[in-house]
Amino acid sequence: MTSSQKIGKKDLGKLLSRWSQEFTVFVPSLETGQAAWAKWDGTDTSFIDWYRNTVVPAKANFFPPVEEMFSFKKDEDGYHIDSPALDGHKQLLFGIRPCDARALAIIDPIFEDLYEDLYYLSKRRNTVLVGLGCTNPCDSCFCTSLGISPGESGDVDLMVTDINDYLLIEALTEAGKELIASASELEGATEADEAKAKEVKEAAYRKVTRKVDTENIQEKLLACFEDEDHWEQVAAKCISCGICTLLCPTCYCFDINDELVKKQGARFRSWDSCAFSIYTKMPMENPREEKWRRVRQKVCHKFEFYPMNSEVIACVGCGRCIRLCPVNWDITQVLNNLPTQVTAKDKS
Ligand code: SF4
Ligand code: SF4
Repeated sequence: MTSSQKIGKKDLGKLLSRWSQEFTVFVPSLETGQAAWAKWDGTDTSFIDWYRNTVVPAKANFFPPVEEMFSFKKDEDGYHIDSPALDGHKQLLFGIRPCDARALAIIDPIFEDLYEDLYYLSKRRNTVLVGLGCTNPCDSCFCTSLGISPGESGDVDLMVTDINDYLLIEALTEAGKELIASASELEGATEADEAKAKEVKEAAYRKVTRKVDTENIQEKLLACFEDEDHWEQVAAKCISCGICTLLCPTCYCFDINDELVKKQGARFRSWDSCAFSIYTKMPMENPREEKWRRVRQKVCHKFEFYPMNSEVIACVGCGRCIRLCPVNWDITQVLNNLPTQVTAKDKS
């Protein structure tokens, strides 16, 4: 007997039903033809066979594209502010991929270290993550270059591996152990099951063939930072649509706006993107009006500035920015073709 558990794939619904008694369970689902996180409908577990990754990453479950922060109104007694009850209900995400779980671990400090962002934390702290190892990575995935294995994760509570007719389940945290402790649907995995899971994980790792050379990447980016000609070439085909940042699991920029009608309104925050020319617009100037500066910022923030501050690259190689870009801009090509010497005069 091993410490892992297993369940027949056909019985997954029973396990999710059990967890639904305590949690709102989210699973990958087909929404208007796209893979998206959705509340489990109580029956469908077919995602286990077709799902590769969601278009919108799991960060949206904690940091939604648009979120009301509070509402306000004015009457004869002055202004009144009504804060929404912070979303503290318990949720369980079944099937998060290792790259997206790592991305949450990378952005967590943004929302809890300098100040406590209770909008994010109230959801994050009430969520358990059940990871599902990839068996069929996309051509655009390059997670292995960022130290991530597509079949394994240390950033989830439970890790699930598809071993054909069964799912092998490993508990990584106390919350994970509690989840499976009373689940009578589970049975102990055998050594043969664990050997099969190891084989599946290794095969998935080998399938990720796209690579990025991250060695000395900070130094390489620093060396070409002022090379305007290079960055103009890199940015040439980008149309500044922002998709690569909005749907990146490690991007966390937001804007805040008030909507006011007569004497009442609400304050919202919504995803923002450094790809947009107005992102850095200020009354007297805009330091990133030219597109090449914005593209440079996107690349350097992830691979140079963020590691400088937090000692971790802010990219998990999920490949979304490659497969979803309307003009096929490819961050791996950019990173693998950085100039070794600055060729242009500093014009910045
Ligand atoms: S998705 Fe492509 S076109 Fe859109 S901003 Fe990103 S690189 Fe540019
Ligand atoms: S930069 Fe691209 S590959 Fe890296 S985490 Fe963001 S979307 Fe994924």
